[in-house]
Amino acid sequence: MPTSKRSRAVVLLSGGMDSCVCAALAARDHEAAAVHVSYGQRTEERERQSFLAICQRLKIHDKLMVRNEALRAIGGSALTDPNIAVPESAAIAHEIPVTYVPFRNAHFLSVAVSWAEVLGAEKIYIGAVEQDSSGYPDCRPAYYRAFNEVVKTGTKDGRIEIVTPLIGLRKAEIVTLGLELGAPFDLTWSCYSRVDQACGICESCVLRLRAFAAAGAQDPIPYLAPASSQV
Ligand SMILES: [Zn+2]
Repeated sequence: MPTSKRSRAVVLLSGGMDSCVCAALAARDHEAAAVHVSYGQRTEERERQSFLAICQRLKIHDKLMVRNEALRAIGGSALTDPNIAVPESAAIAHEIPVTYVPFRNAHFLSVAVSWAEVLGAEKIYIGAVEQDSSGYPDCRPAYYRAFNEVVKTGTKDGRIEIVTPLIGLRKAEIVTLGLELGAPFDLTWSCYSRVDQACGICESCVLRLRAFAAAGAQDPIPYLAPASSQV
């Protein structure tokens, strides 16, 4: 596809494995621009590093890095409140876990929609996953359908659309897709609690390790303990 004719898309890139695959898809199909929101989460510095490295590998030149002070100030999540511990995966029951950041994705999407209006981008990619995920309410398909109504009603020409290419995939399928696309998993960071080596025991690490194992692939990032003993 000739570069000059490529349509623009904004991708929300946290630096985790799902958003990395999503960014690889966006960069394959569009002239992609990547947005990263820091919100006072425990691993924000490490995630920012991943964001920059992934953009470089995927040759995404348009980058927007912003801070959201509200989510940290509001707290109410193990990711933003140092007084709430990040639970081990085994401690998590069938309810929305304490790692849920209240209505976080709406903040992120709002930033992405504003930027898309300015750039003239008509697609916004977000790597929300419903299955094999933590059950966060802002990762459900119905939420994105409703949000798209808001975007249609609340933007200048009403043409921007949020797309969720991973939402119906199993986590292992996301790994397989990422490997096909050449997504730079080695540059990603998913751990909720550590920044030197991934802990291997928080829910995010466990979901990730299971996904790589189910896909028959080796997770290239470093873990505190051998990955095989953590799954
Ligand atoms: Zn972890």
